[in-house]
Amino acid sequence: MTELPPDTKTFRALIDAEIAPHADRFDRQEHLPPHVLARLGEWGWWGAILPTDVGGTGMNMVTLGALHEEVGRGCSSVRSLLTVHSMVAYALTHWGNTHQQQRWLPQLATGQAIGAFCLTEPEGGSDAAHLTTTATRRTGGYTLHGRKRWITGGRLATLFLVFARTERGVTAFLVERDTPGVTTRPVTGMLGTRASMLAEVDFHDCHLDADALLGPEGFALPTVLTGVLDIGRYSVACGCVGILQACTEASATYATRQGNRPHPLADHQLVRQMLTQMVTDTKAARLLCQEAGHLKDRNDPDTIMATWIAKYFASTAATRAATDAVQLHGAAGCSADHPVQRYYRDAKVMEIIEGSTQIQQIHIAEEAWKWTAR
Ligand SMILES: Cc1cc2nc3c(=O)[nH]c(=O)nc-3n(C[C@H](O)[C@H](O)[C@H](O)COP(=O)(O)OP(=O)(O)OC[C@H]3O[C@@H](n4cnc5c(N)ncnc54)[C@H](O)[C@@H]3O)c2cc1C
Repeated sequence: MTELPPDTKTFRALIDAEIAPHADRFDRQEHLPPHVLARLGEWGWWGAILPTDVGGTGMNMVTLGALHEEVGRGCSSVRSLLTVHSMVAYALTHWGNTHQQQRWLPQLATGQAIGAFCLTEPEGGSDAAHLTTTATRRTGGYTLHGRKRWITGGRLATLFLVFARTERGVTAFLVERDTPGVTTRPVTGMLGTRASMLAEVDFHDCHLDADALLGPEGFALPTVLTGVLDIGRYSVACGCVGILQACTEASATYATRQGNRPHPLADHQLVRQMLTQMVTDTKAARLLCQEAGHLKDRNDPDTIMATWIAKYFASTAATRAATDAVQLHGAAGCSADHPVQRYYRDAKVMEIIEGSTQIQQIHIAEEAWKWTAR
């Protein structure tokens, strides 16, 4: 049995004190108050993935997973913001030049700068090879033109990691929010993660310096994009373990309350079946995430497939658990009085972001061919 990282109790205590009790309100208001964002900085969570020499917390991947599980248990919107921010920080750590790192990493470590990840376009997200945003070379840099949609944190981010097409292929760029030609429009009324400050981001003939280029021109698909999506997928998988845990805890509490019933719901075998499935899925999803985290900490390339599997299992299990949690609560589960309706909406989103369920089913099948070749 893999031990939980020692920091888990601290993460849980902070989430229970300051995030979880307010998550339904954040969801209703479709907004995260500035003091919550500031607290994440005080706790070192914006810089969790960054090394201590740039002001980060220097967590290993297993501990980062435990953190994102606990945040996901309390509020998937907060976890979503930390996810995309961590993806930008990871990209800069691995592919940024010295100047880019010196400029941005200390700010990203504290949350003074907040990162957002801009890949998806209005006409599609799963097929990154066919994105249409362009970056045309000009003297001293590039002209960026295109539109990105469903951008988590797009309403507040200071730094956008943007994927665009140059004549050499898909390329990553760092774009500051105050670059002339950058405009954002809030996206509201989403099914889930409603407080994650989504925006559509428009890049209208933005002039970028040559130093905006991140990593090799034309090779972002096998390098920057693969790397950051792997980190994002790992974070989402861990967040789903948090949703599973939250569904289980809420359902166990509700099922053991007697109210004016002759027996508590937990006395019914069919209710126990739902709880059994939730407990088993939670434990299995957590172990898959921990395996992916350990492989990351060892720089083992098998982590890519392990993360696909963890995210596929955790997100589909979270949807099942949240569906059952609403069912078990009856009408109460459909009301704003209980958080399970939020878990239900948030869990469904997890099956779409960072590689949809269908895209994962396509990829994970490849593992089966490898097994037959052994
Ligand atoms: C709340 C939220 C937050 C988001 N945040 C971000 C963000 O911060 N940055 C960002 O860049 N994007 C973000 N996205 C977008 C997200 O990454 C995309 O929604 C996702 O990649 C899927 O793309 P799509 O919505 O365009 O669907 P499509 O790619 O058009 O897919 C639609 C459906 O077709 C299926 N499908 C697609 N291709 C195949 C195939 N080859 N085989 C079988 N089925 C297929 C998909 O599984 C899906 O069910 C966010 C989305 C949501 C809902």
